Amino acid sequence: MQKHSHKVAWCSSCDQGWVEICKDIKTKELFVVCDECESRWEHPLDTVKSNIATTIFDEDIEISEPTEEEIVLKGWKKYILNSY
Ligand SMILES: [Zn+2]
Repeated sequence: MQKHSHKVAWCSSCDQGWVEICKDIKTKELFVVCDECESRWEHPLDTVKSNIATTIFDEDIEISEPTEEEIVLKGWKKYILNSY
């Protein structure tokens, strides 16, 4: 699995990790999560708005990696950073 394949931003919360698009297996909703501090936001653009991550998510959330198609359907493809 390619690491950081769906990164959308540098984490504004911890300033140490990438924020990537993930998927909640239960609700099938996409969201973004920092791979370092695990802060979560509902939308890629929310990560720059404030340094307080939302806490609406369950602690026992089951996270999976979304497919390319799911990201396109959600309209988040444009937020993915493609530079390496
Ligand atoms: Zn972080």
